[in-house]
Amino acid sequence: MTSRSDRPDPEPARRIAAHVEAARLQAGLYLVATPIGAARDITLRALDVLNGADLLAAEDTRVLRHLMDIHGIPLRGRRILSYHDHNGDRARPALLAALAEGGSVAYCSDAGTPLVADPGYRLALDAAEAGARVHALPGPSAALAALSLSGLPSDRFLFLGFPPSTATARQTWLRKWLAVDSTLILFESPRRVNRTLEDLCQIDPHRITVIARELTKKFEEVIRGTAAELAADPRIATLKGEVVMVLDRPSEVVVDDDRLRQVLERHMATMSIKDAAREAAQELGLPRRDVYQRALELGGQK
Ligand code: SAM
Repeated sequence: MTSRSDRPDPEPARRIAAHVEAARLQAGLYLVATPIGAARDITLRALDVLNGADLLAAEDTRVLRHLMDIHGIPLRGRRILSYHDHNGDRARPALLAALAEGGSVAYCSDAGTPLVADPGYRLALDAAEAGARVHALPGPSAALAALSLSGLPSDRFLFLGFPPSTATARQTWLRKWLAVDSTLILFESPRRVNRTLEDLCQIDPHRITVIARELTKKFEEVIRGTAAELAADPRIATLKGEVVMVLDRPSEVVVDDDRLRQVLERHMATMSIKDAAREAAQELGLPRRDVYQRALELGGQK
């Protein structure tokens, strides 16, 4: 979201607003990335497309209206249709109809790149399947901004979106992804960062973790340390704003949950839970206590 304080100098805004007669755009769907904080992080092409599209659509119409206002782009009688996760099925036909008639449609989510943990996937797919051109307008992305400043290897990374919110699902999910030999990027609510860190500590307390907060905004902050250090950091308990977590690749063996379950089930078929946990822990090089805990859960599921 952008704020009034991000309002740019009036001069460039006047220059854009002066193009009241916008150049006609090629037909198609334009997926337009918008700022994740600083309003001036919008691209010139995004401004051209917002100025020239026949029809505008947005996750939140007020947010797009505000962004266009900041940059001096007039509506000129054009409508902004609402398109989000909860009305997609109802809203898509009107957008697809505009495309079928040869129109240009610009779509923006609230902030950053549409489709990246944001609506737009079905719209883009249906538009392409209906034969429309789909154009991506690259620009701000919280995931990539966090990766860039994390100081963690960027040659191979995996974007994981938001972790599950329930404890058991989150632990299973973390165990699975922490085993991947890649830098990991997670979105997380500031209220849940400490719980995710605690779960992370259960699996790999030494994992280098970066908390990137309020990127491109006034209170931008980057906190770096091992998972255990960050879990004990008083700043984490009172974290506010929008947060991306970036995790280093594993430095020691991390076994994903599927493999742990397979090995445990194999041993549990022929021995007691306790013995099976001891065997599995030895085979996989994992702490016996954690493996026993998982064995108890598996035993209880039978
Ligand atoms: N599509 C967006 C993008 O490309 O950046 C992401 C949308 S997702 C619904 C919103 C999440 O992105 C937030 O909960 C937060 O994890 C992350 N995020 C968005 N803006 C951010 C910012 N300025 N600083 C840190 N994280 C941000």
